[in-house]
Amino acid sequence: MHHMKRNLILALVFLVAIYTNAQQPQGDPKLTEIWSPVPKIVTPGKSAADAPSDAIIIFKNKKDGDNWVNKDGGPFGWNADDSSFTVKASAGEIRTKQSFGDCQLHIEWRTPAQVKGDGQGRGNSGIFFMSRYELQVLDSYNNITYSNGQAGSIYKQTMPLVNASRGPGQWQVYDVIYMSPKFNSDGMIVRPAYITVLHNGVLIQNHTSIYGTTPYRGQPEYEVHGKGPIMLQDHDNTTSFRNIWIRPL
Ligand code: MG
Repeated sequence: MHHMKRNLILALVFLVAIYTNAQQPQGDPKLTEIWSPVPKIVTPGKSAADAPSDAIIIFKNKKDGDNWVNKDGGPFGWNADDSSFTVKASAGEIRTKQSFGDCQLHIEWRTPAQVKGDGQGRGNSGIFFMSRYELQVLDSYNNITYSNGQAGSIYKQTMPLVNASRGPGQWQVYDVIYMSPKFNSDGMIVRPAYITVLHNGVLIQNHTSIYGTTPYRGQPEYEVHGKGPIMLQDHDNTTSFRNIWIRPL
């Protein structure tokens, strides 16, 4: 009887030992702690719409029109008021003076309150990364067009995951993470551009590959290039923009 009791105790001790051993971490926990470097401190905006402390503000007030030029480098030709600017039909595309590569971009836009036209003719503009790759801006609220040409599409390539559009005349937001394409020394593409987009806080492009340029006619193409300006499209519709800031990555 004594033997049985002792054997039972030994078996229990053995089981506890196995259990305890399984709970042991693999070596010193300090081996997997990274203490340096320390991420830089950034002061966030009061809301997610406000620029954080390390952002470059490319449009907040009328004076920030100085950050923009027309496609040929001439004066910024769109209509600006104190806090926004609006496409001036036939004035042509505008672009930032500064060039950007990988970045986080916040941009707010509004299609005309008075609905005119349909399909691609309703509030059409666009945000071209590196002046080449268009993230579509369109009034896609109860407006049928080809899916890979609606608001939030990578134009003529990838449709948005969902349609998170607000109605005409309302301010809408894109928050974008853009990664530029990489080329080798022979000019071959070795990594496409990638884009992630939140539209009014809703994920609509999730690390989407960009296949190349986004032409109206024909196929996407890549050609070697470095950093480039952010360009906004004049599609003859009076779409407005405001509160544009960017964080180079
Ligand atoms: Mg467009």
